[in-house]
Amino acid sequence: MSGGPGGDARRRIPRTDALLREPRLTEAAGRLGTSVVKAAVREAQERARTGRIPPERIGDAAVALLPETAGGLRAVINATGVLLHTNLGRAALSAAARRAVAEASGPTDVELDLATGVRARRGRTALRALRDRVPSAAAVHVVNNGAAALVLAATALAVGKEIVISRGEMVEIGDGFRLPDLLVSTGARLREVGTTNRTTAADYAAAIGPGTGFVLKVHPSNFRMTGFTRGAGVGELAPLGVPVVVDIGSGLLAPHPLLPDEPDAGTQLRAGASLVTASGDKLLGGPQCGLVLGEADLVRRLSRHPLARALRVDKLTLAALEATLTGPPTPTAEALTADPAVLRARADRLASALAGYGVDVRSVESAATVGGGGAPGVTLPSAALSLPESCAAALRTGPTPVVGRLEAGRCLLDLRAVPPADDERLAAAVRSAAGG
Ligand SMILES: *Cc1c(COP(=O)(O)O)cnc(C)c1O
Repeated sequence: MSGGPGGDARRRIPRTDALLREPRLTEAAGRLGTSVVKAAVREAQERARTGRIPPERIGDAAVALLPETAGGLRAVINATGVLLHTNLGRAALSAAARRAVAEASGPTDVELDLATGVRARRGRTALRALRDRVPSAAAVHVVNNGAAALVLAATALAVGKEIVISRGEMVEIGDGFRLPDLLVSTGARLREVGTTNRTTAADYAAAIGPGTGFVLKVHPSNFRMTGFTRGAGVGELAPLGVPVVVDIGSGLLAPHPLLPDEPDAGTQLRAGASLVTASGDKLLGGPQCGLVLGEADLVRRLSRHPLARALRVDKLTLAALEATLTGPPTPTAEALTADPAVLRARADRLASALAGYGVDVRSVESAATVGGGGAPGVTLPSAALSLPESCAAALRTGPTPVVGRLEAGRCLLDLRAVPPADDERLAAAVRSAAGG
């Protein structure tokens, strides 16, 4: 055969500009942009050139290859059993927050009072919603993420001074990101006190002097220390006469009955913290942002510092944060409080439906975790679909990507972080990945 495999078919491949005139692809170009559609067309042409599809199918193949949106990020189903999975963007926004983001994405009154027509405080309704949720905070401020909140506190309150911190709280958050390095990068100095396992209020008191910027307490949010340990609580440190900044990490605003060891902003402030910093996209269940709550003069020093401008959040974040604070329970909260019996019933129903299609699937007990976002060592009883390990890759790369976890030679799809409304999409993805 001349011209190699598919040589004849190759000559029948339509030109790119001809393909782009097809109505479905013209419409897609209006929605997604020409370059995205061209890329899909080129890939489809390539498939025809290599004989994987007949030339007549190029148009259909290009349409099938088009992404849902012009952005590169794909929506996935989080079946890892890790509620706040860093690689999956931590907290999923509630439907209310998603709608608020869509509404705010055009021109908005983020910094304008529509009644008077004059400039207004940026994000004032979101800030008020945050303050309303934490009455013990005299003032609040919002920045880009938890790390930014710490950088701003260190820059505004401790440059050229010392941050007094326990050796047991010199924490690496993940991916080589170490809080002490971040703090030192601002020009503040660290004054380490105590030992890895034990630090007392007297250790802090001995280190405090005219050069102290503040005392910093950091919640060990991704590990647990047990045995011969001791730490000093905020209540013991507040009387020392310097600001006490508490990085609680997870963003719980009030105590959570299922997570008794997880610190919350309200309790820390009532115990005497001057400032609390936290993330918005961990247990609070909102968008990525950093919360600063506490005494009015300190919050003002942070929010009026020149660096605050570089760390400010956009209108989409403010919209999502406000809807998270005022709206119905977040997906994170729903996942955290899901009833294990209900999870098991969902797994049983899905497993028997899928088994009916010949899929090698079982409903099994599982153990979910909160994740790097908080509550280290806490396991949440859960239920999962157990599939052959070989399904994992097909599930990840299918039209509805599903990310599970591998355990004992099986691919587990844990249902705790999967909203019940996604069960049918999950079942369809398993059917196509497992060939059922
Ligand atoms: C997660 C975390 C941070 C960092 O917050 P980001 O929002 O990821 O920047 C800082 N401190 C603690 C204790 C944390 O758990």
